Amino acid sequence: MVEMRKPIPVSEAVRLVMKHVVSLGTEKVVLDHAYGRILAEPIVAKHDVPPFDRSPYDGFAIRSIDSEGASGDNRKSFRVIGEIGAGYVGDKPIGEKEAYRIMTGAQLPEGADAVVMLEQTVEGEAGFTLRKPFEPGENISFRGEDVKAGERLVEAGSLIHPGTIALLATFGYAQVEVARKPVAGVLSTGTELLDVADELVPGKIRNSNGPMIRAQLERMGIAYRSYGMMEDDLDACTELVVKAIEETDLLLTTGGVSVGDYDYLPAIYERLGAKVLFNKVAMRPGSVTTVAVLGKKLLFGLSGNPSACFTGFELFARPAILGMMGGNSPYMPRTRARLGEDFTKPNPFTRFIRATWEFTSGGIVASPAGFNKSNAVSSIARGNCLIVLPNGSRGYEAGDEVDILLLGSEQGISEWTL
Ligand code: AMP
Ligand code: MG
Repeated sequence: MVEMRKPIPVSEAVRLVMKHVVSLGTEKVVLDHAYGRILAEPIVAKHDVPPFDRSPYDGFAIRSIDSEGASGDNRKSFRVIGEIGAGYVGDKPIGEKEAYRIMTGAQLPEGADAVVMLEQTVEGEAGFTLRKPFEPGENISFRGEDVKAGERLVEAGSLIHPGTIALLATFGYAQVEVARKPVAGVLSTGTELLDVADELVPGKIRNSNGPMIRAQLERMGIAYRSYGMMEDDLDACTELVVKAIEETDLLLTTGGVSVGDYDYLPAIYERLGAKVLFNKVAMRPGSVTTVAVLGKKLLFGLSGNPSACFTGFELFARPAILGMMGGNSPYMPRTRARLGEDFTKPNPFTRFIRATWEFTSGGIVASPAGFNKSNAVSSIARGNCLIVLPNGSRGYEAGDEVDILLLGSEQGISEWTL
Protein backbone atom coordinates (compact mmCIF):
# COMPACT_ATOMS: atom_id res chain seq x y z
CA MET A 1 0.00 0.00 0.00
CA VAL A 2 1.21 3.46 -0.82
CA GLU A 3 2.10 5.39 2.31
CA MET A 4 -0.12 8.44 2.87
CA ARG A 5 1.86 11.59 3.49
CA LYS A 6 0.40 14.70 5.01
CA PRO A 7 1.46 17.88 3.24
CA ILE A 8 2.51 20.82 5.38
CA PRO A 9 2.51 24.46 4.26
CA VAL A 10 5.75 25.83 2.86
CA SER A 11 6.05 28.37 5.66
CA GLU A 12 5.78 25.57 8.22
CA ALA A 13 8.42 23.53 6.41
CA VAL A 14 10.78 26.51 6.34
CA ARG A 15 10.16 27.11 10.03
CA LEU A 16 10.86 23.47 10.90
CA VAL A 17 14.11 23.46 8.96
CA MET A 18 15.29 26.71 10.52
CA LYS A 19 14.40 25.45 13.99
CA HIS A 20 16.87 22.61 13.54
CA VAL A 21 19.74 24.69 12.28
CA VAL A 22 22.84 24.46 14.45
CA SER A 23 25.50 27.14 14.32
CA LEU A 24 29.04 26.05 13.49
CA GLY A 25 30.86 28.66 15.56
CA THR A 26 33.21 31.34 14.40
CA GLU A 27 36.75 31.86 13.14
CA LYS A 28 39.04 34.74 12.26
CA VAL A 29 39.95 35.43 8.66
CA VAL A 30 42.17 38.08 7.10
CA LEU A 31 40.26 40.95 5.55
CA ASP A 32 41.05 39.83 2.01
CA HIS A 33 39.24 36.57 2.68
CA ALA A 34 36.24 38.13 4.38
CA TYR A 35 34.14 38.93 1.32
CA GLY A 36 31.04 36.73 1.18
CA ARG A 37 31.40 35.59 4.77
CA ILE A 38 28.98 36.39 7.56
CA LEU A 39 30.03 38.75 10.32
CA ALA A 40 30.22 37.08 13.71
CA GLU A 41 30.68 40.38 15.56
CA PRO A 42 29.04 43.74 15.01
CA ILE A 43 31.13 46.48 13.45
CA VAL A 44 31.45 49.25 16.01
CA ALA A 45 33.21 52.46 14.99
CA LYS A 46 36.65 52.54 16.59
CA HIS A 47 37.08 56.22 15.81
CA ASP A 48 35.39 59.12 14.06
CA VAL A 49 35.19 59.08 10.27
CA PRO A 50 36.68 61.17 8.92
CA PRO A 51 39.17 61.19 11.80
CA PHE A 52 40.02 64.89 11.30
CA ASP A 53 38.49 67.98 9.68
CA ARG A 54 39.61 67.93 6.08
CA SER A 55 39.27 69.67 2.79
CA PRO A 56 36.75 68.22 0.32
CA TYR A 57 38.29 70.24 -2.54
CA ASP A 58 41.52 71.45 -4.00
CA GLY A 59 41.71 75.07 -2.91
CA PHE A 60 42.79 77.25 -0.04
CA ALA A 61 42.23 76.92 3.68
CA ILE A 62 41.40 80.29 5.24
CA ARG A 63 40.00 81.90 8.36
CA SER A 64 36.45 82.83 7.33
CA ILE A 65 36.67 86.01 9.37
CA ASP A 66 39.26 87.35 6.89
CA SER A 67 36.73 87.04 4.05
CA GLU A 68 34.08 89.14 5.81
CA GLY A 69 32.72 91.91 3.57
CA ALA A 70 34.38 90.55 0.41
CA SER A 71 32.65 91.50 -2.86
CA GLY A 72 33.46 92.18 -6.50
CA ASP A 73 34.38 95.76 -5.64
CA ASN A 74 36.08 94.84 -2.44
CA ARG A 75 38.23 91.83 -3.09
CA LYS A 76 39.99 90.45 -0.05
CA SER A 77 43.54 89.27 -0.52
CA PHE A 78 45.29 86.39 1.17
CA ARG A 79 48.93 85.49 1.50
CA VAL A 80 49.71 81.82 0.92
CA ILE A 81 52.04 80.51 3.59
CA GLY A 82 52.38 76.92 2.52
CA GLU A 83 50.88 73.91 0.82
CA ILE A 84 49.26 70.81 2.33
CA GLY A 85 48.87 67.77 0.11
CA ALA A 86 46.67 64.85 1.14
CA GLY A 87 48.51 62.93 3.82
CA TYR A 88 50.42 65.94 5.12
CA VAL A 89 49.70 68.42 7.90
CA GLY A 90 50.39 72.13 8.05
CA ASP A 91 53.40 72.96 10.25
CA LYS A 92 52.09 76.27 11.56
CA PRO A 93 48.70 77.77 12.36
CA ILE A 94 47.40 80.34 9.92
CA GLY A 95 47.21 83.95 11.02
CA GLU A 96 45.31 86.97 9.84
CA LYS A 97 44.82 87.09 6.04
CA GLU A 98 46.90 83.99 5.60
CA ALA A 99 45.99 80.84 3.74
CA TYR A 100 47.35 77.41 2.96
CA ARG A 101 47.03 75.92 -0.46
CA ILE A 102 45.27 72.66 0.40
CA MET A 103 44.39 69.50 -1.54
CA THR A 104 41.36 67.22 -1.34
CA GLY A 105 41.60 64.98 1.69
CA ALA A 106 44.25 67.03 3.46
CA GLN A 107 43.80 67.85 7.14
CA LEU A 108 42.75 71.44 7.78
CA PRO A 109 45.56 73.48 9.33
CA GLU A 110 45.15 74.96 12.76
CA GLY A 111 43.21 78.22 12.71
CA ALA A 112 41.49 77.57 9.38
CA ASP A 113 37.70 77.22 9.37
CA ALA A 114 36.76 77.38 5.68
CA VAL A 115 38.00 76.18 2.33
CA VAL A 116 37.88 78.23 -0.82
CA MET A 117 37.74 76.31 -4.07
CA LEU A 118 40.45 77.10 -6.60
CA GLU A 119 37.75 78.26 -9.06
CA GLN A 120 36.58 80.90 -6.55
CA THR A 121 39.93 82.67 -6.44
CA VAL A 122 41.91 85.01 -8.63
CA GLU A 123 45.66 84.82 -8.37
CA GLY A 124 47.25 87.84 -6.79
CA GLU A 125 50.74 88.79 -5.66
CA ALA A 126 51.99 86.28 -3.05
CA GLY A 127 48.53 84.72 -2.97
CA PHE A 128 45.00 85.21 -4.23
CA THR A 129 41.93 87.39 -3.87
CA LEU A 130 38.32 86.56 -3.12
CA ARG A 131 35.06 88.27 -4.06
CA LYS A 132 32.70 86.64 -1.59
CA PRO A 133 32.62 86.07 2.14
CA PHE A 134 32.83 82.54 3.53
CA GLU A 135 30.89 81.18 6.49
CA PRO A 136 32.71 79.45 9.32
CA GLY A 137 32.71 75.75 8.39
CA GLU A 138 32.08 76.36 4.71
CA ASN A 139 33.46 73.62 2.47
CA ILE A 140 34.79 71.51 5.29
CA SER A 141 34.43 67.80 5.62
CA PHE A 142 34.06 67.59 9.37
CA ARG A 143 35.58 65.06 11.69
CA GLY A 144 32.91 62.46 12.53
CA GLU A 145 30.38 63.70 9.96
CA ASP A 146 30.14 60.21 8.47
CA VAL A 147 30.53 58.09 11.58
CA LYS A 148 30.98 58.86 15.28
CA ALA A 149 33.31 56.76 17.42
CA GLY A 150 31.33 54.06 19.22
CA GLU A 151 28.47 53.94 16.71
CA ARG A 152 27.18 50.44 15.98
CA LEU A 153 27.25 50.26 12.21
CA VAL A 154 26.64 46.71 11.01
CA GLU A 155 25.09 43.89 13.01
CA ALA A 156 26.57 40.45 13.53
CA GLY A 157 24.93 38.07 11.10
CA SER A 158 25.26 40.44 8.15
CA LEU A 159 26.77 39.29 4.92
CA ILE A 160 30.11 40.91 4.21
CA HIS A 161 29.82 42.63 0.85
CA PRO A 162 32.25 45.06 -0.77
CA GLY A 163 30.81 48.01 1.19
CA THR A 164 31.26 46.11 4.45
CA ILE A 165 34.85 45.38 3.45
CA ALA A 166 35.43 49.13 2.99
CA LEU A 167 34.09 49.80 6.48
CA LEU A 168 36.18 47.04 8.05
CA ALA A 169 39.27 48.41 6.34
CA THR A 170 38.43 51.93 7.54
CA PHE A 171 38.62 50.73 11.13
CA GLY A 172 41.73 48.66 10.69
CA TYR A 173 40.19 45.20 10.86
CA ALA A 174 43.13 43.26 9.42
CA GLN A 175 41.35 40.19 10.78
CA VAL A 176 37.62 39.70 10.96
CA GLU A 177 35.59 37.36 13.16
CA VAL A 178 33.27 35.48 10.83
CA ALA A 179 31.00 32.48 10.99
CA ARG A 180 32.48 29.12 10.10
CA LYS A 181 31.21 27.84 6.80
CA PRO A 182 29.65 24.42 6.52
CA VAL A 183 30.89 21.85 4.05
CA ALA A 184 27.97 20.29 2.21
CA GLY A 185 27.80 16.76 0.87
CA VAL A 186 26.13 16.24 -2.51
CA LEU A 187 24.88 12.86 -3.66
CA SER A 188 22.67 12.06 -6.65
CA THR A 189 20.71 8.85 -6.49
CA GLY A 190 19.13 7.01 -9.41
CA THR A 191 20.01 3.95 -11.43
CA GLU A 192 19.08 5.87 -14.56
CA LEU A 193 21.85 8.41 -14.09
CA LEU A 194 24.82 8.85 -16.39
CA ASP A 195 27.79 11.07 -15.85
CA VAL A 196 28.11 14.27 -17.79
CA ALA A 197 30.73 12.81 -20.13
CA ASP A 198 28.77 9.63 -20.87
CA GLU A 199 26.98 8.94 -24.16
CA LEU A 200 23.21 8.61 -23.85
CA VAL A 201 21.99 5.02 -23.88
CA PRO A 202 18.39 3.81 -23.82
CA GLY A 203 16.60 4.44 -20.55
CA LYS A 204 19.29 6.62 -19.06
CA ILE A 205 19.68 10.37 -18.55
CA ARG A 206 22.62 12.48 -17.53
CA ASN A 207 22.85 13.61 -13.92
CA SER A 208 22.05 17.29 -14.06
CA ASN A 209 21.02 17.75 -10.43
CA GLY A 210 24.43 17.01 -8.95
CA PRO A 211 26.26 19.65 -10.99
CA MET A 212 23.37 22.08 -10.53
CA ILE A 213 23.39 21.82 -6.75
CA ARG A 214 27.14 22.10 -6.62
CA ALA A 215 26.77 25.34 -8.58
CA GLN A 216 23.99 26.53 -6.25
CA LEU A 217 26.41 25.97 -3.37
CA GLU A 218 29.24 27.67 -5.21
CA ARG A 219 27.03 30.65 -5.86
CA MET A 220 26.76 30.95 -2.07
CA GLY A 221 30.50 30.47 -1.60
CA ILE A 222 29.91 27.14 0.17
CA ALA A 223 32.38 24.28 -0.20
CA TYR A 224 31.14 20.76 -0.86
CA ARG A 225 32.22 17.19 -1.14
CA SER A 226 30.72 15.40 -4.07
CA TYR A 227 29.69 11.79 -3.58
CA GLY A 228 28.84 11.45 -7.24
CA MET A 229 26.00 9.20 -8.26
CA MET A 230 24.63 6.09 -6.65
CA GLU A 231 22.24 3.59 -8.15
CA ASP A 232 19.04 2.75 -6.32
CA ASP A 233 20.46 0.10 -4.05
CA LEU A 234 19.43 0.36 -0.43
CA ASP A 235 22.59 -1.06 1.15
CA ALA A 236 25.06 0.73 -1.07
CA CYS A 237 23.15 3.99 -0.76
CA THR A 238 22.95 3.70 3.01
CA GLU A 239 26.66 3.10 3.25
CA LEU A 240 27.44 6.13 1.12
CA VAL A 241 24.99 8.34 3.01
CA VAL A 242 26.58 7.32 6.32
CA LYS A 243 30.04 8.15 5.00
CA ALA A 244 28.82 11.47 3.59
CA ILE A 245 27.18 12.45 6.89
CA GLU A 246 30.39 11.67 8.76
CA GLU A 247 32.46 13.80 6.44
CA THR A 248 30.25 16.85 6.01
CA ASP A 249 28.06 19.31 7.93
CA LEU A 250 24.88 18.76 5.93
CA LEU A 251 23.84 16.40 3.20
CA LEU A 252 22.00 17.14 -0.01
CA THR A 253 20.71 14.12 -1.85
CA THR A 254 18.63 14.15 -4.98
CA GLY A 255 16.10 11.57 -6.03
CA GLY A 256 14.59 8.65 -4.21
CA VAL A 257 12.24 10.52 -1.88
CA SER A 258 8.95 9.64 -3.56
CA VAL A 259 6.88 6.57 -2.90
CA GLY A 260 8.18 4.49 -5.81
CA ASP A 261 9.57 0.99 -5.43
CA TYR A 262 13.17 2.18 -5.66
CA ASP A 263 12.86 5.40 -3.67
CA TYR A 264 15.12 4.43 -0.81
CA LEU A 265 15.81 7.66 1.02
CA PRO A 266 12.89 7.22 3.47
CA ALA A 267 14.20 3.75 4.33
CA ILE A 268 17.72 5.11 4.73
CA TYR A 269 16.56 7.81 7.14
CA GLU A 270 14.77 5.13 9.10
CA ARG A 271 17.78 2.85 9.21
CA LEU A 272 19.98 5.69 10.44
CA GLY A 273 17.44 6.76 13.02
CA ALA A 274 17.19 10.22 11.49
CA LYS A 275 14.17 12.27 12.48
CA VAL A 276 12.09 13.19 9.45
CA LEU A 277 10.86 16.78 9.83
CA PHE A 278 8.53 16.48 6.86
CA ASN A 279 8.20 14.41 3.73
CA LYS A 280 5.48 16.30 1.94
CA VAL A 281 5.16 20.03 1.39
CA ALA A 282 2.11 21.73 -0.06
CA MET A 283 4.04 23.12 -2.98
CA ARG A 284 4.70 22.48 -6.62
CA PRO A 285 7.17 21.56 -7.78
CA GLY A 286 8.88 19.62 -5.03
CA SER A 287 6.02 18.33 -2.92
CA VAL A 288 8.08 15.23 -2.05
CA THR A 289 10.93 17.32 -0.64
CA THR A 290 11.97 15.65 2.57
CA VAL A 291 14.13 17.01 5.34
CA ALA A 292 15.50 14.94 8.18
CA VAL A 293 17.89 15.58 11.05
CA LEU A 294 20.49 13.27 12.44
CA GLY A 295 22.25 14.66 15.50
CA LYS A 296 23.11 18.21 14.56
CA LYS A 297 23.07 17.55 10.85
CA LEU A 298 20.35 18.36 8.38
CA LEU A 299 19.69 15.90 5.59
CA PHE A 300 17.95 17.41 2.59
CA GLY A 301 16.20 14.84 0.45
CA LEU A 302 15.53 16.82 -2.67
CA SER A 303 13.36 15.52 -5.46
CA GLY A 304 15.08 14.09 -8.51
CA ASN A 305 12.94 16.24 -10.78
CA PRO A 306 15.27 19.05 -11.76
CA SER A 307 12.91 21.99 -11.23
CA ALA A 308 11.75 20.53 -7.94
CA CYS A 309 15.33 19.89 -6.88
CA PHE A 310 16.36 23.43 -7.72
CA THR A 311 13.38 24.95 -5.92
CA GLY A 312 13.83 22.73 -2.87
CA PHE A 313 17.42 23.86 -2.56
CA GLU A 314 16.59 27.56 -2.82
CA LEU A 315 13.61 27.40 -0.45
CA PHE A 316 15.02 25.15 2.26
CA ALA A 317 18.72 24.35 1.94
CA ARG A 318 19.87 27.87 1.19
CA PRO A 319 18.34 29.56 4.26
CA ALA A 320 19.47 26.64 6.43
CA ILE A 321 23.05 27.01 5.27
CA LEU A 322 22.95 30.75 5.88
CA GLY A 323 21.34 30.05 9.25
CA MET A 324 24.19 27.69 10.18
CA MET A 325 26.43 30.72 9.70
CA GLY A 326 24.25 32.92 11.87
CA GLY A 327 23.08 34.87 8.83
CA ASN A 328 20.41 37.39 9.78
CA SER A 329 18.85 37.60 6.30
CA PRO A 330 18.71 34.04 5.04
CA TYR A 331 15.63 34.24 2.83
CA MET A 332 15.44 35.11 -0.83
CA PRO A 333 14.57 38.74 -1.40
CA ARG A 334 11.19 39.27 -2.95
CA THR A 335 9.20 41.93 -4.65
CA ARG A 336 5.83 42.35 -6.32
CA ALA A 337 5.29 41.88 -10.02
CA ARG A 338 2.48 41.57 -12.51
CA LEU A 339 1.88 38.19 -14.03
CA GLY A 340 2.81 38.01 -17.70
CA GLU A 341 0.50 35.04 -18.33
CA ASP A 342 -2.73 33.44 -17.13
CA PHE A 343 -2.73 30.62 -14.59
CA THR A 344 -6.43 30.01 -14.52
CA LYS A 345 -6.35 26.53 -13.01
CA PRO A 346 -6.76 26.74 -9.23
CA ASN A 347 -4.19 24.76 -7.30
CA PRO A 348 -4.40 23.22 -3.85
CA PHE A 349 -0.62 23.65 -3.49
CA THR A 350 1.46 26.82 -3.60
CA ARG A 351 3.19 27.04 -6.94
CA PHE A 352 6.73 28.29 -7.53
CA ILE A 353 7.07 29.02 -11.20
CA ARG A 354 10.46 29.50 -12.75
CA ALA A 355 10.19 32.83 -14.46
CA THR A 356 11.96 35.87 -15.77
CA TRP A 357 11.25 39.31 -14.48
CA GLU A 358 11.62 42.42 -16.52
CA PHE A 359 11.10 46.07 -15.88
CA THR A 360 8.52 47.46 -18.29
CA SER A 361 6.62 50.73 -18.58
CA GLY A 362 3.87 49.01 -16.57
CA GLY A 363 6.26 48.08 -13.74
CA ILE A 364 7.83 44.70 -13.11
CA VAL A 365 6.34 41.89 -15.15
CA ALA A 366 7.21 38.27 -14.45
CA SER A 367 6.56 35.62 -17.08
CA PRO A 368 7.08 31.87 -16.88
CA ALA A 369 10.43 30.83 -18.30
CA GLY A 370 8.96 28.08 -20.43
CA PHE A 371 7.96 24.45 -19.89
CA ASN A 372 6.87 24.44 -16.30
CA LYS A 373 6.51 20.91 -15.06
CA SER A 374 8.54 19.76 -12.11
CA ASN A 375 10.73 17.68 -14.42
CA ALA A 376 11.67 20.70 -16.54
CA VAL A 377 15.30 21.62 -16.82
CA SER A 378 15.01 24.26 -19.57
CA SER A 379 13.02 26.72 -17.47
CA ILE A 380 15.60 26.63 -14.68
CA ALA A 381 18.21 27.76 -17.15
CA ARG A 382 16.13 30.69 -18.34
CA GLY A 383 14.57 31.83 -15.07
CA ASN A 384 15.85 34.63 -12.87
CA CYS A 385 13.06 34.47 -10.29
CA LEU A 386 10.29 32.30 -8.90
CA ILE A 387 6.72 33.49 -9.20
CA VAL A 388 4.77 32.51 -6.09
CA LEU A 389 1.14 31.60 -6.61
CA PRO A 390 -0.42 30.88 -3.22
CA ASN A 391 -2.60 27.83 -3.01
CA GLY A 392 -6.31 28.34 -3.03
CA SER A 393 -9.45 28.11 -4.95
CA ARG A 394 -8.83 30.77 -7.50
CA GLY A 395 -6.73 30.98 -10.62
CA TYR A 396 -4.62 33.93 -11.67
CA GLU A 397 -4.75 36.08 -14.74
CA ALA A 398 -2.15 38.03 -16.65
CA GLY A 399 -1.80 41.41 -14.94
CA ASP A 400 -2.56 40.09 -11.45
CA GLU A 401 -0.09 41.26 -8.84
CA VAL A 402 1.95 38.45 -7.28
CA ASP A 403 5.07 37.93 -5.21
CA ILE A 404 8.28 36.95 -6.92
CA LEU A 405 11.39 35.59 -5.22
CA LEU A 406 14.61 36.89 -6.72
CA LEU A 407 17.25 34.30 -7.51
CA GLY A 408 20.98 34.78 -7.31
CA SER A 409 21.00 37.77 -5.01
CA GLU A 410 23.75 37.87 -2.42
CA GLN A 411 21.53 39.93 -0.14
CA GLY A 412 18.53 38.34 1.51
CA ILE A 413 15.70 39.26 3.85
CA SER A 414 15.30 38.43 7.49
CA GLU A 415 11.84 36.90 7.54
CA TRP A 416 9.97 34.30 5.57
CA THR A 417 6.67 36.05 5.10
CA LEU A 418 4.91 34.05 2.42
P1 AMP B 1 12.99 10.56 -8.25
O1 AMP B 1 12.94 11.77 -7.38
O2 AMP B 1 14.14 9.67 -7.96
O3 AMP B 1 11.67 9.84 -8.24
O4 AMP B 1 13.19 11.08 -9.73
C1 AMP B 1 12.22 11.89 -10.34
C2 AMP B 1 12.61 12.19 -11.77
O5 AMP B 1 13.79 12.96 -11.80
C3 AMP B 1 12.87 10.98 -12.62
O6 AMP B 1 12.38 11.23 -13.92
C4 AMP B 1 14.37 10.90 -12.62
O7 AMP B 1 14.88 10.21 -13.73
C5 AMP B 1 14.78 12.33 -12.61
N1 AMP B 1 16.07 12.49 -11.96
C6 AMP B 1 16.44 11.90 -10.82
N2 AMP B 1 17.69 12.28 -10.47
C7 AMP B 1 18.11 13.10 -11.44
C8 AMP B 1 19.33 13.81 -11.64
N3 AMP B 1 20.33 13.70 -10.77
N4 AMP B 1 19.44 14.59 -12.72
C9 AMP B 1 18.40 14.70 -13.60
N5 AMP B 1 17.22 14.08 -13.45
C10 AMP B 1 17.08 13.26 -12.39
MG1 MG C 1 14.85 7.86 -8.51
